[in-house]
Amino acid sequence: MMRGLLALTALFVAVFGKETFEGHQVLRIVAKDEIQLSLVKNLEDMVDFELDFWRGVTDVATPVDVRVPFHSLQSVKIHLESQGIEYSIMIQDLQVMLDEEQEEIESAARVAEPRSTDSFDLSRYHPINEIYNFQDMLVAENPNLVSKIVIGQSYQGRPLNVLKFSTGGTNRPAIWLDTGIHSREWVTQASGTWFAKKIVTDYGRDPAMTAILNKMDIFLEIVTNPDGYYYSHTSNRMWRKTRKPNPGTSCVGVDPNRNWDAGFGGAGASGNPCSETYRGPKAHSESEVKSIVDFVKAHGNIKAFVSIHAYSQMLLYPYGYTRTPAKHQTELHNLAKKAITDLASLYGTRYRYGSIINTIYQASGGTIDWTYEQGIKYSYTFELRDTGRYGFILPANQIVPTATETWLALMAIMEHTFKNPY
Ligand SMILES: [Zn+2]
Repeated sequence: MMRGLLALTALFVAVFGKETFEGHQVLRIVAKDEIQLSLVKNLEDMVDFELDFWRGVTDVATPVDVRVPFHSLQSVKIHLESQGIEYSIMIQDLQVMLDEEQEEIESAARVAEPRSTDSFDLSRYHPINEIYNFQDMLVAENPNLVSKIVIGQSYQGRPLNVLKFSTGGTNRPAIWLDTGIHSREWVTQASGTWFAKKIVTDYGRDPAMTAILNKMDIFLEIVTNPDGYYYSHTSNRMWRKTRKPNPGTSCVGVDPNRNWDAGFGGAGASGNPCSETYRGPKAHSESEVKSIVDFVKAHGNIKAFVSIHAYSQMLLYPYGYTRTPAKHQTELHNLAKKAITDLASLYGTRYRYGSIINTIYQASGGTIDWTYEQGIKYSYTFELRDTGRYGFILPANQIVPTATETWLALMAIMEHTFKNPY
């Protein structure tokens, strides 16, 4: 009877409930040499542990953050200790942090829905319908500056909304920004919402923003992976991928940052549908990716493309799939340095910068490798706050500071693009 009840409870949670992370810990592992590093890398293949790498294996100097489910905690710790590999506990019990986060969201939800973007609380995490409402209000309030373009539909049929900021002209040179392609990186969608409000506030007031928008358009996709974002609110806070089923397995979703046609299928992505870095059955198999591909090609005049992730505080440029340096490596490097210097000027937040492959790890099928190979010279990707204290569960009181400092870096990139037409 008890067993039956337990099984029934498990089924109920699986079908209706929210995934819980009670007793899950996030460990920070520090390899002291190349041998230990390869032992840590082996953990990726130990599928029974069901590990979730929040920050994957890079180099000896960079720690690895990994979420360990309760059932494998003992084994993983013994495994590490027996090999003399040092680790510390970054998050003692993930569910405790998630409960705190959820409580804030629920208390915000008890406040009446905002009637304008001025009363929209930018210092909170919002469910997808509230972000969609925000977008519509922003368009309604600024009809001469903002419009909404639907570039496609997600697998589950949600609109892929892009905000277009434009003062006129036809097919002007443009800047693309996207946030949230990995759904659990909540500070990015929240920052994207802040950026949208910042653009309409600064146009006509800030000379740099005004000059840019008098000559160029800005496109901003805030919820780039809407199915994943919805799922991360309703079912599994740690969801990263799309929500398309994979035939022949119960594992769902593709990593939309491994699905692009740039070194697709190479090292630094997985062919296993159960992996968090599953590349998908073929390049551009995900409509969330294909819709951007089609948009970028049809537009044909995008000059800067910035794709925003979290976490680990980095500003990166191509390539991820190959060690061959990008043709514009020097310019991209110098501009990255300027951008992170501006970012740090506000609160002292320190970023690392460089090419993806040299700064994080080899990753194939990534967004900005594809955009760069399409001829978009200023292709960058951000990893926002923090460096692992909270990881993906960044407290909401850091949203506005994060967005504000990031904006300084984005302005550096946008101004450079504006002043260096090509
Ligand atoms: Zn990401």
